[in-house]
Amino acid sequence: MTTPVKQHLIDPEICIRCYTCEMTCPIGAIEHDDNNVVVNADVCNFCMDCIPVCPTGSIDEWRVVETPYTLEEQFDFDELPEQAEIEAAPAGGDEGDADPVAALLAEAHKGAGGKARAPLTAAKPAVNMYTLGKPAKMKVQGNYRLTDDPSHDVRHIILDPGALPFPVLEGQSVGIIPPGQDAEGKAHLPRLYSVSSPRDGERPGYHNISLTVKREEGGLASNYLCDLEQGSEVEVTGPFGSTFLMPNDPNARLLLICTGTGSAPMRAFTMQRQRGGATGGMTMFFGARTPESLPYFGPLKKIPEKILRQHLVFSRLPDADKEYVQDRIVAEQDEVAEMLGDERTHIYICGLRGMEEGVELAMTSIAESIGQQWTALRDVMRDEGRYHVETY
Ligand SMILES: Cc1cc2nc3c(=O)[nH]c(=O)nc-3n(C[C@H](O)[C@H](O)[C@H](O)COP(=O)(O)OP(=O)(O)OC[C@H]3O[C@@H](n4cnc5c(N)ncnc54)[C@H](O)[C@@H]3O)c2cc1C
Ligand code: SF4
Ligand code: SF4
Repeated sequence: MTTPVKQHLIDPEICIRCYTCEMTCPIGAIEHDDNNVVVNADVCNFCMDCIPVCPTGSIDEWRVVETPYTLEEQFDFDELPEQAEIEAAPAGGDEGDADPVAALLAEAHKGAGGKARAPLTAAKPAVNMYTLGKPAKMKVQGNYRLTDDPSHDVRHIILDPGALPFPVLEGQSVGIIPPGQDAEGKAHLPRLYSVSSPRDGERPGYHNISLTVKREEGGLASNYLCDLEQGSEVEVTGPFGSTFLMPNDPNARLLLICTGTGSAPMRAFTMQRQRGGATGGMTMFFGARTPESLPYFGPLKKIPEKILRQHLVFSRLPDADKEYVQDRIVAEQDEVAEMLGDERTHIYICGLRGMEEGVELAMTSIAESIGQQWTALRDVMRDEGRYHVETY
């Protein structure tokens, strides 16, 4: 059997035939006829130089194929062919430095129990615009501590890409390349961080992104990020992730379940839905040790109940029994069961890997209470792009 390869294609329905990519490609891999602009699979080496210069994003299309589409076939495309059901190329193949990131994301989405899918109404994300070889250089606009707990340093870090195009959607991640080299003299691989700002910027109309970063003892990238000063330059790859995305449907109902920095994408969702005037409502279960270690505690308290119903759950309050996210989900099972029975509901779970088991058990018992089997219901929701897990 032939080994599948990843092929670089251009979406003919979106391309405006400006030929900027053709002029940019350093090795002449891009050609055009009267009909289409196309990439020669025999020549393209995935350097990604053409990705950021394309004004439409139509150049950022990839298919895993057993036999690459020829130039002639591509010149005849009216629309891009669908991705056929083929196993992805093994790591270390043609994806170059995108591979470790793809592996990290695949691992992070494992808890969904099958192939993750984006919501049907989600906007189309740009991915892999900037790579290890060609990262975006961003300026640190701010670095603020979010938590008062001395042993739990979580930071809100704002990055400015300047004039570089860097389109993100809520739920996507970026890679941060820690400076320096590893023991073998190679550049460090990027660490992934969820974007915590909405698509139109940390402040509306500002072209910037924010991250929510927890300092890990002995951790390379998290300490580097948490110690950054305003004005420093950071190397960023991405954006990454094409499934943990928000539905654009304003009537969709979101059930958000998170711990710690898993709140980052939830912040982005909440801000975008507030800005866009979504009406479907959101319910959030957010676990932390104490209010002092819960990122965004102050701003969260100001969000009206009709936009976001909040269940803040603490496991280390001095005068109370330990309570974890799954305990509160079970305690609020009527509300959760009602949401599970509504086809407009999308579930998002994000945070530390350890939260998955408890949440699964809670959902199993709630599904049973309405006569459903959780894994069957979850698989339907996942296939419909309504069940999303990102844990790390
Ligand atoms: C999809 C995705 C989204 C993510 N989103 C976020 C996010 O929004 N916010 C966030 O904070 N994190 C997020 N993460 C986790 C993040 O990518 C990093 O894994 C995390 O910040 C740790 O990276 P690091 O470089 O600091 O640690 P690393 O250097 O990679 O070390 C990993 C672990 O080993 C330990 N370690 C390393 N060296 C030593 C040593 N010498 N002695 C003792 N222990 C050591 C560290 O304590 C750390 O826990 C996400 C991960 C994924 C996959
Ligand atoms: S990825 Fe690089 S080699 Fe391939 S078409 Fe784009 S610029 Fe040319
Ligand atoms: S730069 Fe983008 S829009 Fe312009 S020709 Fe190339 S693919 Fe088409």
